[in-house]
Amino acid sequence: MIEAEGPIGIDRYMALCLGHPVHGYYMSRDPFGAAGDFTTAPEISQVFGELIGVWCVNAWVTLGSPAQFAIVELGPGRGTLMADLLRAAKAAPEFLAAAQVHLIEMSPVLRAAQKAKLGEGVTWHETVATLPAVPCLIIANEFFDALPIRQFEMRGGKTYERAVGLHDGKLKVGLAPTDKNFETEGVFEMSSVSLAIGEDLGRQINSLGGAALVIDYGHFYSAAGDTLQAVKAHNFCDVLETPGEADITAHVDFEALGKSFNAKLLPMLTQGQFLKAMGLEMRSEKLSAKLGGPERDAFLAASARLIDADQMGDLFKVLCVVQKDGNATYPFGAT
Ligand code: SAH
Repeated sequence: MIEAEGPIGIDRYMALCLGHPVHGYYMSRDPFGAAGDFTTAPEISQVFGELIGVWCVNAWVTLGSPAQFAIVELGPGRGTLMADLLRAAKAAPEFLAAAQVHLIEMSPVLRAAQKAKLGEGVTWHETVATLPAVPCLIIANEFFDALPIRQFEMRGGKTYERAVGLHDGKLKVGLAPTDKNFETEGVFEMSSVSLAIGEDLGRQINSLGGAALVIDYGHFYSAAGDTLQAVKAHNFCDVLETPGEADITAHVDFEALGKSFNAKLLPMLTQGQFLKAMGLEMRSEKLSAKLGGPERDAFLAASARLIDADQMGDLFKVLCVVQKDGNATYPFGAT
């Protein structure tokens, strides 16, 4: 394609590498787990999805316990988080009786995995445009990092857009002209797809009520920096090396994403702060008490990995958005 039509932007490159109907990374495989390329919080410990279930039940009560509402998950992977969430919510039967589950997923392979885990009573969507007209509790774990970004580079007083072209028959990143102008030197990233989804979700929440919980690696405030990365078999690799065979992501710019909702943003937390406030340590102790020595150690180590500052605890951030005049949901804004 590049040979025939010329260089393509980083956003198009990323979208094709991940979502091309035949060769796209997510379209043809289940990438998770030890034998795969990477792992995620719900795959590390069941406690992650369970505590999000507890968060949902409380958020539903904060909304006034609507008799009909949707639990919406963006990019549910293997469906593990949703299965753990629904199991934990069995403690609140009125919540489950009022809930419909809606999943946004583009990958046929992962849709099949979600169906195997969650059964028939679930509705799938290609995009957020077709969500039902009911209050929604929206969950997105490691979804926004997979959405395409553009990269701009300001160098020597002039701004360019990074593009993927060919050099001696190999893919190479070069600089293309752009109308954009950045004021300081550096690399600037923009994900217009993420912002468009944020805008749609914000409109849904503002008009029908609800809350969104976005968990991902990224930064609280917009800042210059090149965060594009590729991971294969649990190791970083060159983003250009094996297109379609490595996971390509970028860190989430939570300031820009938060603003795109045009709704009420609650004070953000790190994943460590969020999970501790939701009772991760207590829940882990309780579950692990039933296990024997090595199993107990492994269970506690998995929980620790989610909250430790030098593991996932600080790098991962949690954004909670509610409708414009909505109440804060615990633990956001709790003093
Ligand atoms: N939330 C899961 C999976 C994260 S991986 C977990 O934490 O384990 C990213 C997920 O988003 C995958 O399910 C992938 O297929 C899906 N995805 C990526 N881009 C998407 C898009 N543009 N539309 C819908 N789903 C997408």
